[in-house]
Amino acid sequence: MKKILLSGVKPTGRPHIGNYFGAMKQFVDLQASEKYDCHLFIADYHALNLIQDAAEMRRLTLDLALDYLAIGLDPAQSVIFKQSDVPAHTELAWIFDTIVTMPYLMRAHAYKDAEAKDKELNVGTFNYPVLMAADILLYGTDIVPVGADQKQHVEYARDIALKFNHTFKSEAFKLPEDMIMKDVATVPGTDGRKMSKSYGNTIPLFAEREEIAKAVMGIVTDSSGDVPTNVYAIHKLFRTEADLKPLYEANKGKYKALKEALIEDVDAFVKPLRERRAILAKDEGKVIEILRQGAKKANEAASAKLVEAKKAVGVL
Ligand code: AMP
Repeated sequence: MKKILLSGVKPTGRPHIGNYFGAMKQFVDLQASEKYDCHLFIADYHALNLIQDAAEMRRLTLDLALDYLAIGLDPAQSVIFKQSDVPAHTELAWIFDTIVTMPYLMRAHAYKDAEAKDKELNVGTFNYPVLMAADILLYGTDIVPVGADQKQHVEYARDIALKFNHTFKSEAFKLPEDMIMKDVATVPGTDGRKMSKSYGNTIPLFAEREEIAKAVMGIVTDSSGDVPTNVYAIHKLFRTEADLKPLYEANKGKYKALKEALIEDVDAFVKPLRERRAILAKDEGKVIEILRQGAKKANEAASAKLVEAKKAVGVL
């Protein structure tokens, strides 16, 4: 029996190398394995908390589908779909809403961070972990490859599964596990904090060379040591530490030379992805068809679990 793998990315803008190494690379690496049945989705309803312009939402959704395909996700191996195409996600989220308490959701780190920034937070942002629990639990998911920032959300999904099963004396939901790769759990940005669109410290995954150069030249370096920590932390994603050792030894204190070497390495890595993406972008009809086929498969996979949950609560 294959294990069920599920993960998603929000279409909120261009993915960065933190998204790639922290999560998306695992999607590609694992889809080829005999062990996993992969479900990878575009979390457009999650993104709706932020993107509130129809044309932008459509554009960003198609862009993320192109990104998925360009990094090597294969519709023959993975179910690739858009969250909003599978109504069972929001339907199950409502059922969960009725058993999840507000104080419990108020303990979420993401909620606390968002609330600290914006007191007029929308209910969707508050409720985010409940919809994410529905995303995960609908497919009988075993593992969820994500970055460290999502660890608590997978724990929420486990708690919600337990509470549902207990409340309704059901065995509907399996407890999922996160899969967080140790070395890339939190990829740092150009300022050393977690790489994140909201901090403006990213290196976009499909950036052109000039944009890569600008981002890398902007990496914050301190003058205290021989090795510029923030440059090295990003460089390590692209080359082994054994490989980097002679380079950093030969260029002690020469931050500009090291940044130039990093630009070369990032660009060499990104170039084939960029080129593949440009080819795929010429046929958006094909991308839309891939999402349509993915939605069909995802709806089939999700419907049995939703029926089970509806029977357990007595609406069926
Ligand atoms: P999102 O854009 O929030 O949908 O993120 C997509 C995936 O990228 C999630 O699994 C995140 O945990 C992961 N991710 C985002 N930023 C980073 C980072 N700086 N390091 C590692 N993983 C990340």
